[in-house]
Amino acid sequence: MKILICGSAAAEAVPGLFCTCPLCLKALKEGGKDVRSRTAYQLGEKIRVDFGPDTFYHMVKFGLRLDLLTDLIFTHSHRDHFNPGELENRRRGMSRVPEDSLLRIIGDAPLIDRLEKEIDAEKSKLTLARVAHGSRLILADGVELTALRAEHGTPDALLYAFRTPEWSCFIANDTGWFPGETWDLLRKFRFDAVILDCCYQNIDHRRGHLGGESFLAVFDELRKMGSLSEKVRLVANHFSHNPGMSHEDLCRWLEPHGVETGFDGMVLDL
Ligand SMILES: [Zn+2]
Ligand SMILES: [Zn+2]
Ligand SMILES: [Zn+2]
Repeated sequence: MKILICGSAAAEAVPGLFCTCPLCLKALKEGGKDVRSRTAYQLGEKIRVDFGPDTFYHMVKFGLRLDLLTDLIFTHSHRDHFNPGELENRRRGMSRVPEDSLLRIIGDAPLIDRLEKEIDAEKSKLTLARVAHGSRLILADGVELTALRAEHGTPDALLYAFRTPEWSCFIANDTGWFPGETWDLLRKFRFDAVILDCCYQNIDHRRGHLGGESFLAVFDELRKMGSLSEKVRLVANHFSHNPGMSHEDLCRWLEPHGVETGFDGMVLDL
């Protein structure tokens, strides 16, 4: 399975739309890996995680065929991840969507309730699946999804583990230090890739988002529990512009810890 990091930024993106900080100005001028769109992922062609304000940009930049999606999973309803109005482009007259095409939307109950209020799911050819901590679903390509509780200060924030007999991956943003129930469930996994919230970068932080020592300690804990495979790839993602670290700065900090720095367009081939 090819896991594509479509976006690697926090809510404001880098460069931020109105920001004059040195990192945003550098990213705008020089481009490259310092340009970060809002966080989202694709697992192959059929499974996507999050659908924020940069979905159109992801489609064009990476040549994604969004019509092929069958499962769209939401981590939570913050605006950098949740932009449900765009899903109405699946309605008749907005896009040519085959009659039998259905896109399953997966998320915590409060998020799905909100989506149902904001758009007409039936006319947009959506089916809705409410999940909670511990829920399991089989997605396209036989991928098993497990939802886990995040610590993000919103009632609807979930993390997701994906696995088949061949590979397993944990996508964990947005979150601070995991709640106990999440650590308990993580014991049952042996991940080949972990993509972890690193919003605060080298500044220690553990409430709502992760950074610094607390970010690195999550990997130590997972390793102690036996939840990482020998070939595991550890990836930091969901970066804010506020700490001011460039991609190069992040690599310099993370590489000695065996952690890769996520960027828009990074592919993990599991
Ligand atoms: Zn976010
Ligand atoms: Zn900035
Ligand atoms: Zn968030």
